[in-house]
Amino acid sequence: MKLLHSYIDGRFVPGKREFADVNPADGSVVARATEASSEMVDAAVTAARRALRDDWGRYGVRERAASLYKVAEGIERRFAEFVAAEVADTGKPISLASRLDVPRAAANFRVFADLIKTAGLEAFETETPDGRRALNYTVRRPLGVVGIVTPWNLPLLLLTWKVAPALACGNAVVVKPSEETPATATLLAEVMQEAGIPNGVFNLVHGFGPGSAGEFLVSHPEVNAVTFTGESQTGASIMKACASTVKPVSFELGGKNAAIVFADCDFDATLAGMSDAVFLNTGQVCLCAERVYVERTIFDRFVEGLRTKAEAQNFAWPMDETATMGPLISAKHREKVLAYYRLAREEGAEVVTGGDVPKFGDARDQGFYVQPTIFTGLAETARCVKEEIFGPACHIAAFDSEEGAVALANDTRYGLAASVWTNDLKRAHRVAPQMNAGITWVNCWFLRDLRTPFGGAGLSGIGREGGVHSLNFYSELNNICIRTE
Ligand code: NAD
Repeated sequence: MKLLHSYIDGRFVPGKREFADVNPADGSVVARATEASSEMVDAAVTAARRALRDDWGRYGVRERAASLYKVAEGIERRFAEFVAAEVADTGKPISLASRLDVPRAAANFRVFADLIKTAGLEAFETETPDGRRALNYTVRRPLGVVGIVTPWNLPLLLLTWKVAPALACGNAVVVKPSEETPATATLLAEVMQEAGIPNGVFNLVHGFGPGSAGEFLVSHPEVNAVTFTGESQTGASIMKACASTVKPVSFELGGKNAAIVFADCDFDATLAGMSDAVFLNTGQVCLCAERVYVERTIFDRFVEGLRTKAEAQNFAWPMDETATMGPLISAKHREKVLAYYRLAREEGAEVVTGGDVPKFGDARDQGFYVQPTIFTGLAETARCVKEEIFGPACHIAAFDSEEGAVALANDTRYGLAASVWTNDLKRAHRVAPQMNAGITWVNCWFLRDLRTPFGGAGLSGIGREGGVHSLNFYSELNNICIRTE
């Protein structure tokens, strides 16, 4: 069986304890990963620091950009391997991994290579109090060693989303991928080696969060900054660990995202878009809509339409091109989602469709599947309307006025994403900026331009990444003031 090791200072290093890498489609063990000890995390941080002092620290922007292009090419050369590994680790349909996860990973490296070559900086001519002049200008300096901790839902996409800008800015990184999905991060380490990225620039440590590689990394005194994607509560723990050494943090956390569907929308296009927004990746995208507000005059028709979309999901084996929905990531996560399905009933929900586990009569019955599920009839105070479920489920409620819809959508402690569906241009411009969200889509969902800011408010995160916002997080600006007269 394949063993997945940590990658430290340009070498694959085994850890003492092993853990299973499970295929959620049938519960089979596809590989075993070895857990990094605190000494291994320490060695990774030390290697990163040395790389900053030696070769990588002397690379100019052009050389760093060229290195990132080579990594992008390396991912593309081994595209099929990356896709197969991501599908085996997550159970997501192959069509999704090959359309979204792996192409985006390569794109992340290209986009930030291009950006670092062209990003400008500030400069001011300053009149000094004594009537003379000075010139102020800024230069970018790397933060140093960046700790990167990522989740399992879009494993390679979210990891490279942080690795690429961190390296573009001249940092060295130590990454800790989710224990549920160690495979593509390990392949990425191989690509780094093949691309000739100097030893110590990219380090990978496998393991868990508390009491394991994750905690060792974020609390390491020689780590200069931490960037994290995952649950809001984990973000709170990491923030505490970072406090004593005042590390800058960038957090992309959970969501309980709302969609507002107006009666004047393009009905069929909205239904197709909302089906993705609720069910894509089995609802395991932080941007998925779990709260859907529909104008009362089209409520019944919309609920019926989304029910049809839910029941049309195809649970074929993930490597089958026709599959549209895979399992949840793990037995534990399925237990959590099913607990919400039970809770929704207890809270008085009507189950429009789903609410249970599908039966296959083959090995998929040992996998972690749940039915796509639609609820109606819950009070806005219900836990199922307030808490992130992170499964293929939504609650649909009716609204009567634009103001009322905005108030319902914004009644949340999260603030990640929202979508607004309407053909009324003025309404779109009026409603979108009122959304309590870091990103609001109008008549679309999950369309991403990697140059734009991405992140959330409230429990959904701290800061923005994307484009120049990433460059600003992954670098320190040094303002230089020179007397010119
Ligand atoms: P998680 O918080 O359980 O784990 C994420 C990572 O953190 C894993 O690598 C884990 O090992 C590590 N970790 C856990 N505890 C830690 C600790 N104390 N110290 C250091 N590391 C620790 O999240 P998950 O279950 O893997 O992912 C699902 C969550 O991620 C959902 O809440 C989802 O909304 C969120 N998410 C957010 C975004 C976004 O961009 N805002 C994107 C994807 C997922």
